[in-house]
Amino acid sequence: MDTRSATADRARIESLFLALIPAIFRASFSPTGQVKHEVDSTARRISPATGWKIEDSLDLYGVQAWGNGYFGINDAGHVVVRPDQSTDREIDLYEVVRGLEARDLAAPVVLRFSDILRHRLRRLNDAFATAIAENDYRNRYTAVFPIKVNQQRLVVEEVYGYGREFGFGLEVGSKPELLAVMAMTEAESERMIICNGFKDDSYIEAVILATKLGRTIIPVVENFGELQLILKHARSYDVRPRIGVRVKLATEGVGRWRESSGEKSKFGLFVTEILDLFRTLKEHGMEDCLQLVHCHPGSQLQDIRRVKDAVNELAHVYAELKLMGAGLRYIDIGGGLGVDYDGSRTNYASSMNYTLAEYASDVVYRIANVCNARGIEHPVIVSESGRAIAAHHSLLVFNTLGCSRLDRFRVDEKAEQDFAGGDRVPQPVRDIFDAYRSISERRLVECYHDALQAREQALQMFNLGYLGLEARGHVERLYWATCAKIRDCCRRLESVPEELEGLETVLSDIYFCNVSVFQSLPDSWAIDQLFPIMPVHRLEERPTRNAVLADITCDSDGKIDRFVSLRESKRTLELHELVDGEPYFLVVFLVGAYQETLGDLHNLFGDTHVVHIKLHDEGGWWIEETVKGDTAAEVLKYMSYDVDRLYPQFARDCERAVREGRLSLEESQALRRFYELELAGYTYLEPD
Ligand code: PLP
Repeated sequence: MDTRSATADRARIESLFLALIPAIFRASFSPTGQVKHEVDSTARRISPATGWKIEDSLDLYGVQAWGNGYFGINDAGHVVVRPDQSTDREIDLYEVVRGLEARDLAAPVVLRFSDILRHRLRRLNDAFATAIAENDYRNRYTAVFPIKVNQQRLVVEEVYGYGREFGFGLEVGSKPELLAVMAMTEAESERMIICNGFKDDSYIEAVILATKLGRTIIPVVENFGELQLILKHARSYDVRPRIGVRVKLATEGVGRWRESSGEKSKFGLFVTEILDLFRTLKEHGMEDCLQLVHCHPGSQLQDIRRVKDAVNELAHVYAELKLMGAGLRYIDIGGGLGVDYDGSRTNYASSMNYTLAEYASDVVYRIANVCNARGIEHPVIVSESGRAIAAHHSLLVFNTLGCSRLDRFRVDEKAEQDFAGGDRVPQPVRDIFDAYRSISERRLVECYHDALQAREQALQMFNLGYLGLEARGHVERLYWATCAKIRDCCRRLESVPEELEGLETVLSDIYFCNVSVFQSLPDSWAIDQLFPIMPVHRLEERPTRNAVLADITCDSDGKIDRFVSLRESKRTLELHELVDGEPYFLVVFLVGAYQETLGDLHNLFGDTHVVHIKLHDEGGWWIEETVKGDTAAEVLKYMSYDVDRLYPQFARDCERAVREGRLSLEESQALRRFYELELAGYTYLEPD
């Protein structure tokens, strides 16, 4: 095939699609259904003379509050990443994004900063080391990374590799996770593998054999039946296993994952069952095998009191069992260590009212306290902190495709003659125009109510057949123009009347983004999780638009309309005016935990490209690994399409159309080339 003409054909057809897709969005979102290019080509950058500073952007987007020292803005107005929190070694994100484009890795793209991962692991280790020293704790701490938080091989390998110097291990919750972990923990017999989740016969058999292989692997009994399987395989392979037990805490969790603990939780044994388990082990002369007690008080614990209560209860269970003769050595406090997504340091769902140091200090102090009071040795403290390790190191960058603006409706000079005229102008049109004309600072609420009423009346008349489409269009235009004028007046007031407070949100723009919320930010869609979002560049300019974000799926849920703020969450995000022909990139931070693995293929938008960026020893950054995003053929295969048959089938149809004169040969070729190239192409929109 002549690739040059194929590329040209593809470009032509793609540009048609590109033009069409935002138009489809606008058609469904805009009040008039008009399809019109929305980018304001007259928009000009606001000059520095407006007094906007980099610091203003830092404040506006709360970078210092949630960024944990990993992110900032440079003098060029670009987001920078500081993988080791030092301002000497910054990576310019805009430069990275443009550099990736030049390597055919256009946004949307997930950027992983391995150095941040390494730094998080060190911070976790150091926080516990300090707490251990301060509390005169006579044992050590280890983390086991729950790989469900981000199962990507490269991430797990990096966590495992960087965690070597601290002796950190891994946690699994299923057989496939166990398979991955068993292979990669070769020759590291002292590093722990904790096995949670439902376990069947073969799972337990594999764990027992892995013990024989030399791994420090601990199956955590989540329900009583698992104990019998452990006993069976331990006997048949003549192994003395290390056994853990998950305690069903009476302490209820809080927040979104509150049901992970408490009496109604899915997992864990009641105290009476734990006593039965201990008696059974004793009968088999295996009480020394019970080595670990475990709990999981829920993910993203926002309130430190829950951490303290859960750890305290678990420590008491530990102490009692230890005094009864169990061979306990480990206390595993599960996950729960939060991430301050909005930077507010509150017990709001997207935040946490404690620091990492406070978490470590409280955990160590509680356990030490209980053990000291009962006169028993201090156990090894284990935590399954996945979110706190992985969240910061990944960023999602995507480009905007265009925007829809509700405040674009203006009333021109001709309006007076069009709408104010006598009886020939329908009453609601005259009323709403009157409301528009009468707007003044003193009459804002009144005019707003008049406009609302006139619009309602117009709609009723239209539905009864007394108002034509033309008049309805006038009403619509006048209504939005009235709202915009009132909003503009409100902006000049010191305090906005309560009834008008929502106008900014109602009139906010919609920025269309080349991303799928379902694939890349599933928690934003499913559980209203907030993530910090901001522009990648132009941060030296004042943002003049308020917007919500819509993704490219054909689903009205595919949007983001809540944004982090230090007070309540914001309903709109401050963005810059789009400039014709210039890209505008947005970045979502803290997406390294759960987002990649929970994402789905809604509308067949597949995995995005993933790029691992590292600081280079000689300065600057370099790309360590690249994982290309799914192609259309790949996602079709996931859905059981026989991709090898699709193209020949389609090509046959094109041939038939040529024969029957419905397509010229050239047209048929263009369509066939498009089909063939797109099968191998990215599932997202690509620049020309
Ligand atoms: N351990 C268990 C048993 C879990 O179920 C989870 C997640 O819910 C975790 C650890 C990870 O917790 P986190 O999200 O706090 O990292």
